[in-house]
Amino acid sequence: MKLHEYQSKQLFNKYGIPIPRGRITTEASEAKHFAEEMGGRVVIKAQVLVGGRGKAGGIRLARTPKEAEELAAMILGMELKGLPVRKILVDEAVNITKEIYLGITNDRAARRPVMMASAAGGVDIEEVARTSPEKIIKIHIDPLLGLRDYQARDLAVGIDLPRMLWRSFSDIAHNLWVAYQANDASLAEINPLVITSEQRLLALDGKMVVDDNALFRHPDLNEMRDLDVEDWAEVEARKFGLSYISLQGEIGCMVNGAGLAMATMDIIKLSGGEPANFLDIGGGAGSEKVAAALRIILADANVKAVLFNIFGGITRCDEVARGILAALADVKTHVPMVVRLVGTNAEEGRKILADAQMATAETLLEAAQKAVAIAKGASA
Ligand code: GDP
Ligand code: MN
Repeated sequence: MKLHEYQSKQLFNKYGIPIPRGRITTEASEAKHFAEEMGGRVVIKAQVLVGGRGKAGGIRLARTPKEAEELAAMILGMELKGLPVRKILVDEAVNITKEIYLGITNDRAARRPVMMASAAGGVDIEEVARTSPEKIIKIHIDPLLGLRDYQARDLAVGIDLPRMLWRSFSDIAHNLWVAYQANDASLAEINPLVITSEQRLLALDGKMVVDDNALFRHPDLNEMRDLDVEDWAEVEARKFGLSYISLQGEIGCMVNGAGLAMATMDIIKLSGGEPANFLDIGGGAGSEKVAAALRIILADANVKAVLFNIFGGITRCDEVARGILAALADVKTHVPMVVRLVGTNAEEGRKILADAQMATAETLLEAAQKAVAIAKGASA
């Protein structure tokens, strides 16, 4: 789950990372009010879960409360990368002398969290990583020992931070690590961490991603979830306990088991097609879950064919077949489907589907080839 900037900064504040004074609102008139409270000069910031808001016009500096109101109204009427802006953060404006990058993520290859800092902050860090990776200083954190003081100092030296800011930088790095670990985050990022004209460090932007699988032990974070801005399909999938990831291809996949789902995607590719999604309906899925999964797959306009690959272990194939028919009665569609059922009650399952004039297949390869042929035919 991605947190909004204002939520990430609230967490930063809780862990002792300095942030500018700021208020959140959905009303332009209130933005004016906040600007008056903060002495006039504020930055109006669109709260949408995309990066590069600044470049897209979602971050604007207002010099007066009146201008704050105007810019707030404008930003509240915008869409950023397809997402409507519903909330804005009104932050006290800061005089910046330098923008730094500081972030933590998991380095899977190293099997540890990695903290990264760069003097080239403020801009897209992925771009820096691509064009001048030497400008990013990295240190790996031993999860049992935590971030050590000397490591924070190494980062400060590595990015040529003025010596008078080392202490404060080290505190921020340490607090960011604690926030990252305590909230089961997979990303905690301050970009930019700025040096103000008063020679203070301040987190101007914040981004946190927390592990969905750990949300059960963070009720406070779970409440921050903003269903409004999340992908409909992903929200729906979570509601029914489905693992769903949307992809770019044309063949919708419904599979039980993550490994089988990945194998199915591979075989679709081997047969010359592209999967439209990863979807694991899990073991023992009943017809209701199957119907929900089908609705999610069909909501994707790119889907030209749907491939069901069900291995009946705990899941019963006849139950799945009935689910598919129930779903089709519910969701009217002309998208062709190919079903491969094996395992428990496969015979009954196949009979139910054959009676309903649906294409079935014996092997996965055959099913994938059929689905690819249908999808190609449909797009030709
Ligand atoms: P992002 O584009 O989505 O990453 O949004 P940021 O919050 O990082 O803002 C983008 C840029 O706007 C920053 O890198 C700063 O250069 C600028 N900015 C943000 N807040 C302030 C502020 O209070 N004062 C000034 N002068 N610039 C700001
Ligand atoms: Mn930023």
